[in-house]
Amino acid sequence: MTQSDFIGLEEIEAARDRIASTIRQTPVNLSDTLSRIAGVPVHLKLEHLQHTGSFKLRGAANAVARLSDTERSAGVVGVSTGNHGRGLAHAAKAAGVRCVICMSRLVPQVKVDGIRALGAEVRIVGRSQDEAQAEVDKLVADGMTMIPPFDHPSVIAGQGTLGLEIVDQVPDVETVVVPLSGGGLIAGVAAACKAINKDIRIIGITMERGAAMIASLEAGQPVEVEELPTLADSLGGGIGLFNRLTFAMTRDLVDETYLINEAQIATGMRHAYWQERQIVEGSGAVGIAAVIAQKFKPKGPIALILSGGNVDMEQHFRVIGGEDVDLMKEVA
Ligand SMILES: *Cc1c(COP(=O)(O)O)cnc(C)c1O
Repeated sequence: MTQSDFIGLEEIEAARDRIASTIRQTPVNLSDTLSRIAGVPVHLKLEHLQHTGSFKLRGAANAVARLSDTERSAGVVGVSTGNHGRGLAHAAKAAGVRCVICMSRLVPQVKVDGIRALGAEVRIVGRSQDEAQAEVDKLVADGMTMIPPFDHPSVIAGQGTLGLEIVDQVPDVETVVVPLSGGGLIAGVAAACKAINKDIRIIGITMERGAAMIASLEAGQPVEVEELPTLADSLGGGIGLFNRLTFAMTRDLVDETYLINEAQIATGMRHAYWQERQIVEGSGAVGIAAVIAQKFKPKGPIALILSGGNVDMEQHFRVIGGEDVDLMKEVA
């Protein structure tokens, strides 16, 4: 792949116009305590306040907006029970497009209800993600369009709109810190920021338990890693062995990546709550965690993306209360 195959500024700017009426432009807050720790201004991009509770709505909304008339009338399908599923359901409903989310019977009822409440049809099939995928393949064969969570040009361009907002809201930003899993978010944000100012430093943060992108970067190609229970559950899952875009974009556009552990994620969630008064899920708090753990050397004004807020409130309550929550010990 060459640089020219990447998602460019034009596509991201077009995505911003397309999704403007579906998303909210989320606010940015300057954090006094994190600025003191870092020695530079630290701005929090409060994307956990996005509709549906995460940035995934941006990519989903752009993908839905780009459907042809034939595709629109047949509808969209997805497999995610997490933030992508919520974003896709909301985006499809807003656009008046049918949306089916397939999930296995193991998915907890609250998640099923959450997706349904957003207006999607839920199809419960089999006992594994693979069986849910087989149902998706059938619906696609019947004409529906599958919208994946990260490795898709329209999804990456949609996530990139966050980068445009950050540069508007923090014009002197020097470093952008981004939670990293499949790489759709960081690829879009890096493409947007670097197109505007090539010197903006992009840092990706993920958790030790199942860091598929970082393992893949080290291996020089997409690899699979073992998935383990983590407070940063939205960062779980592989990058796809046949990854088309996000692996190469992350490799070429991201300056540094760091891993953080469960205790550091919990510290990030606690800080978000007690100091910033924000309810942030573990995956959304990894940037805060990296600043507190002083994982990287601050050089200039930092923008941290708080990427999501969809946390189980009982789990959140335990974490902010100071309990040492280890989900590895809690799997049935
Ligand atoms: C999906 C997600 C991420 C990671 O995004 P990728 O595009 O997969 O790298 C980070 N935070 C939250 C809250 C998410 O839902």
